[in-house]
Amino acid sequence: MWRPWAGRVRPAAGWATMIRVENHTTRPHHVAIVGSGPSGFYAAAALLDAAASEGPDVRVDMFDRLATPWGLVRAGVAPDHPKIKSVSAQYDKTARREGFRFFGHVHLGDDPAEPGVVTRDELLERYDAIVYAVGSQTERRLGIPGEDLPGSIASVDFVGWYNGHPDYVDLAPPLDTERVVVIGAGNVALDVARMVLLTEADLRATDTADHALDALVGSGVREALICGRRGPVQASFTTTELRELADIDDLGVVVDPEQVPAGIADDDTLAKGTRRNLEILRGFAESGPDPDARQRMEFRFYRSPVEIRGDGKVEEIVLGVNRLETDDSGRTRAVDTGERETIPTGLVLRAVGYRGLALPGVPFDEDTGTVPHTEGRIGEHSDDHRREYVVGWIKRGPTGIIGTNKKDANETVRHLLADLAEQTPVEHPDDVEDWLRDRCPDLVDQTGWEAIDAHERGRGEPGGRPRVKVVDRDELIKVSRP
Ligand code: NAP
Repeated sequence: MWRPWAGRVRPAAGWATMIRVENHTTRPHHVAIVGSGPSGFYAAAALLDAAASEGPDVRVDMFDRLATPWGLVRAGVAPDHPKIKSVSAQYDKTARREGFRFFGHVHLGDDPAEPGVVTRDELLERYDAIVYAVGSQTERRLGIPGEDLPGSIASVDFVGWYNGHPDYVDLAPPLDTERVVVIGAGNVALDVARMVLLTEADLRATDTADHALDALVGSGVREALICGRRGPVQASFTTTELRELADIDDLGVVVDPEQVPAGIADDDTLAKGTRRNLEILRGFAESGPDPDARQRMEFRFYRSPVEIRGDGKVEEIVLGVNRLETDDSGRTRAVDTGERETIPTGLVLRAVGYRGLALPGVPFDEDTGTVPHTEGRIGEHSDDHRREYVVGWIKRGPTGIIGTNKKDANETVRHLLADLAEQTPVEHPDDVEDWLRDRCPDLVDQTGWEAIDAHERGRGEPGGRPRVKVVDRDELIKVSRP
């Protein structure tokens, strides 16, 4: 197996002070980062930090297929969580650093004749290293009958729709239903359940895309039923997200006291976070929902979707009732008891996790939906990919909160810098920007993005909103070129 430090001492963790370019060249190294979400920005910051201290002289070009940066911070985080979104200020700071360039509307693809597409080979010709930071762009499937009926929607699409991701503007989810059934017991399930239940006043204070804002405000939804296939102990909500439900206006939270019995949180073999979550759920079970609340969020555990039914659209969902069983590896599994419940609904939101997509020419593990790597180095698994790296969800799968990506990116960058120290920089042509502009006629650069950003924030000001998003591709281009 190829090891860049074969025969020498492996660099220690404090890479910023340990690594120096040893190939006696004055040419800077150029790194392409594909994807501009949190993991991409943390990788960029780590590279520029190294360059600013004692590391090699590194320049970073970041690419995104969208006109706008920040990945899931713009298009994933729920609009009623502005504090989480405010992490974008850090990314802005990185983007303004010397040695950083952003290029939006650039798609890593396999057909160089297609406008807007650049290929892996072309990037390798021009850059010393490529970091893939493309996240998990699609959904996990349930694999049940009726999954694709109109009105059964993956959370990836629904979240993209309310956040103004240009790919999902036309989704038109059927919100004329009284009950929405949400499948999954994770934070995304909570996000989508909150978003369909928020009051008009709460929604209007957010940067929810205008098309979604109008639809959500006018919706007939009164109840979101969150179904977890295992129990409350195994649910993957985080405590802050559960706790905040008590403070949402006009929302009654329903938890069955039998599913979250007294004393459930006392088990000190459970993780602290799990015990806190159980205390919160138990609190909801004990108090019962606020009888005056107009909206209702119900948690129902030990339920798996078995079939989604309807005549041309979703009309009901069949849930299987589960019991839990612990297998030999110690994992607690949901086992079907054979009992069924049928719930009328016009909208099923499938929030059962995300999945990575293969990148052209890059190894991919179909089972995990990630790129095989060792601590971020793809080259440890494939000799043909020695100058390629991964960070974020495409590296480790769709888990963790935004901050998790910082440590993850630092690990990859530490190895990348060690490898650069062994490499003579490629002849990076000065006209790479001209090449890009030629290949990507709709290119949006950092100045263009700043124009979009200022325009959106300005539009938000009169209504006291953080921003009013531009969602149309042509308008984004127009606004980026004032
Ligand atoms: P997640 O935390 O992995 O939750 C997925 C849920 O879907 C789990 O309850 C899982 O149950 C269930 N599930 C999977 N396959 C299923 C199936 N076939 N049938 C029924 N249920 C199924 O994923 P996520 O909610 O998409 O979140 C992704 C990551 O983003 C997480 O790390 C999350 O914390 C993070 N996130 C954070 C925030 C925040 O900090 N505010 C917001 C959103 C997302 P099992 O446990 O039984 O597999």
